[in-house]
Amino acid sequence: MQHEREEDVLRADIAARLAAGLQTQTAPLIENDRQFAELLASLRGLRADDVDGKLKLGGFVDHPFGGEQMRCQECMYYLVHRKWCDLPELALPVEPSWWCRLWRI
Ligand code: SF4
Repeated sequence: MQHEREEDVLRADIAARLAAGLQTQTAPLIENDRQFAELLASLRGLRADDVDGKLKLGGFVDHPFGGEQMRCQECMYYLVHRKWCDLPELALPVEPSWWCRLWRI
């Protein structure tokens, strides 16, 4: 399916950007609902096609994060079969082993 293929291409492109060392804001960690809402509000200020902006603000990394090894796979926004982040403010194809600051269970 064309749509699926486009998502695969974008996912590989994001993987390449992260592997190339794209600097993203992994700190501060989100510790409460207010901080979460503020980060969402910042993300809403980006254009929907500003992938780099989403990656930077979201603090994306291409590996599990922290002592708890948090990753997209266990996040409530991760769609397993589509390998997709369903948080509307992100709406990006992701790998199960990645992580970002919007992680939630
Ligand atoms: S919110 Fe972040 S951790 Fe959760 S699925 Fe989306 S990209 Fe992954």
